[in-house]
Amino acid sequence: MKSCHLCKTDYENIKGLVGMKTAAEFYGYPVGRNGCCICPFHQDRRPSMRIYPHNRGYYCFSCGSGGDVITFVSRLFGLNNEQAAVKLIEDFSLPIQTEGLTYRERREREKKIRLQKKQDQWIAQAEDALRIYWILLCEASRNFADPNFDEALMRLSYIEYRIKCLQDNPGEFYEDREAVRMIGKIRERINSWYD
Ligand SMILES: [Zn+2]
Repeated sequence: MKSCHLCKTDYENIKGLVGMKTAAEFYGYPVGRNGCCICPFHQDRRPSMRIYPHNRGYYCFSCGSGGDVITFVSRLFGLNNEQAAVKLIEDFSLPIQTEGLTYRERREREKKIRLQKKQDQWIAQAEDALRIYWILLCEASRNFADPNFDEALMRLSYIEYRIKCLQDNPGEFYEDREAVRMIGKIRERINSWYD
């Protein structure tokens, strides 16, 4: 492992680029649909570690350990924070390098990080839209006199499937123009729901 000096921005970028869920799963702790995984820091039989969305870290309800993706890796492998950060950079081939960068390389790296942030933001908003629509459909499906009852029956399982697609493979979802168009339509639909 190479030694290097990382600055505060590098730590922030690592947290922005490697989601907590991605890291947990990469190191062998699959996260269930309820957002929990087996806690590696105590003898855990049932998943009691909650993995929070959008890089808000983890917290174990049994042993109380919590932190961000860097803390997770440092504890898991017995490393200090800097070593853990370097491990993440290497394991995920992150575009973060602290030595011998030319001006152009630095610009390219910043651009890549910017694009990634834009994508993360879009994905978070798309997930919100899908969830809101899903809740509206659930409500409508319970009452057959509801004006949106038919729509709910027709769309519910499809929307559930789409939420799963988005969670399983956010990058692919973002690249899929059809999916992006669908999210736009869902936003419009949410706005006109009670009209
Ligand atoms: Zn624990």
